[in-house]
Amino acid sequence: MGGNAIEIRGLTKTYASSRGEPEKQALKSIDLDIPTGSVFGLLGPNGAGKSTLINILAGLVIKSAGKVTIWGFDQDVNPRQSRASIGVMPQELNLDPFFAPRAALEVQAGLYGVPKAQRRSDEILALVGLEDKAEAYARTLSGGMRRRLLLAKALVHHPRILVLDEPTAGVDIELRQMLWANIRKLNAEGMTIVLTTHYLEEAEEMCDEIAIINQGDLVARDSTSQLLGRLDAKTLVITPEVCNGAIPKGEGLDVLMRDDGTIAISYPSSRIPAEAVLEAVRAAGIRIADVRTEQAHLEDVFLELTRGR
Ligand code: ADP
Ligand code: MG
Repeated sequence: MGGNAIEIRGLTKTYASSRGEPEKQALKSIDLDIPTGSVFGLLGPNGAGKSTLINILAGLVIKSAGKVTIWGFDQDVNPRQSRASIGVMPQELNLDPFFAPRAALEVQAGLYGVPKAQRRSDEILALVGLEDKAEAYARTLSGGMRRRLLLAKALVHHPRILVLDEPTAGVDIELRQMLWANIRKLNAEGMTIVLTTHYLEEAEEMCDEIAIINQGDLVARDSTSQLLGRLDAKTLVITPEVCNGAIPKGEGLDVLMRDDGTIAISYPSSRIPAEAVLEAVRAAGIRIADVRTEQAHLEDVFLELTRGR
């Protein structure tokens, strides 16, 4: 497989009107390539269309228009191969209450036609830390264990691509770290990862490529570093030699006196050079003991791209 694990063209989804609700265009002609081997973050505010997109990839929601190619297989032409290439961990805990973890994995493997000799149920249970729960009654599993079982189920057919919808929403720190460690390990072994998350810090740390969707439109698609670099607002943080309360002034400067005695000055770097900011500081009679820059965060980019739409 070449460059892209997933290729999406003109993907559109309109949910029909029902129970008094008007029809809803959840995805508006999305074009998106997801590179093979990446950890790809799909971000967007609530209702943006993230789950709709993921559920179309998973074959759970039927698209209204467009073309989806998974691992080189057109979803409409080769539905079986395209489904076999992808494993999906859904957001909801939809587990069958009658199956213990090992049995649940065997059933899932059967559904995907994985021959007995190729099943790795115990290996997968160990990966998600459920080896000693292999025979436990499903109803005795905690929420965190159920979530790990969902991840295990997504892996039974050895998919090339793993898709996770809000894998860490509402889970405790320990489970979150375990999920991320698993995801890193699978990615290091060559699996392409696609995930949605509400936690932008997490996306910034984990994802090398990011797409942001808002109200069904793709509003950004770039490497994480490029995305962070394109923010125009930069911040200089000045430590004055003496705190005398002087405030630097200048057109376009956004000055914040912080509790620790430093002065944070945000400015649009495309219009105002850093030297002009330092000049404004000196002009206010402030002697500079130290100066550093603060990096933009994904949260800033996200807000800029999704604000007020
Ligand atoms: P996200 O996962 O980004 O929060 P969703 O894909 O779940 O967004 O939803 C996108 C839009 O489509 C929302 O306005 C949502 O209300 C609507 N929607 C989602 N599922 C359905 C459905 N089964 N029927 C009608 N509308 C839906
Ligand atoms: Mg969702």
